[in-house]
Amino acid sequence: MTLHYILFDLDNTLYSPRYGLELNVGRRIAEFLVAYLGLSLEEALNQRRERIQRYGTTLEWLIAEKGYTDIEAYYKAIHPEGEADTLSPDPTLRAFLESLPLPRGILTNSPREHADRILSRLGIADLFTHIFDIRWHGLKGKPHAEAFHRTLNALGTLPETTLFIDDTPRYVTGYCILGGQGILLDEENAYPAYPHPRIQNLRELTGFLH
Ligand SMILES: [Mg+2]
Repeated sequence: MTLHYILFDLDNTLYSPRYGLELNVGRRIAEFLVAYLGLSLEEALNQRRERIQRYGTTLEWLIAEKGYTDIEAYYKAIHPEGEADTLSPDPTLRAFLESLPLPRGILTNSPREHADRILSRLGIADLFTHIFDIRWHGLKGKPHAEAFHRTLNALGTLPETTLFIDDTPRYVTGYCILGGQGILLDEENAYPAYPHPRIQNLRELTGFLH
């Protein structure tokens, strides 16, 4: 079936994990967990590891199982202003995105303010028709089937006609299960046994456009 749209994840997809930006987000989430749960770092991370597979995000887990309610305080703590300052405009990425023959959007499990900061630092904010953030999904984003369906309904496209690219295997798998054209971006070759399409460089996307 002819493709109509390309949906991009944001973090570690439109910029490289080498910037360490998402590692810093992860560190702030861990600090938040230690403070909120009153556990050691190791205990807090163990608890999350045991439970996170049922949820799309750490916040979703905290709300569902730990009685957490202050959404805005959480996002303020893990996405402080200036979080994207190590990124700089990426004219090569911009040219690549502009060369793609299909409209593009963002599907992220982050809040909108984070997406806006990243896209603006990279100098590509004007290249996307839509940004679907985690609040838009009522805090239940990828890999939930409803999040993908809600996104595609808004775009007026189908899983079969929408290419989705993300660096997190379980998010891409969630999309492939729906019959979607999902591609894993695995820049560091961390998932050689991944059973669905996998690329190591975003530029390889062009091989999937038909
Ligand atoms: Mg990502």
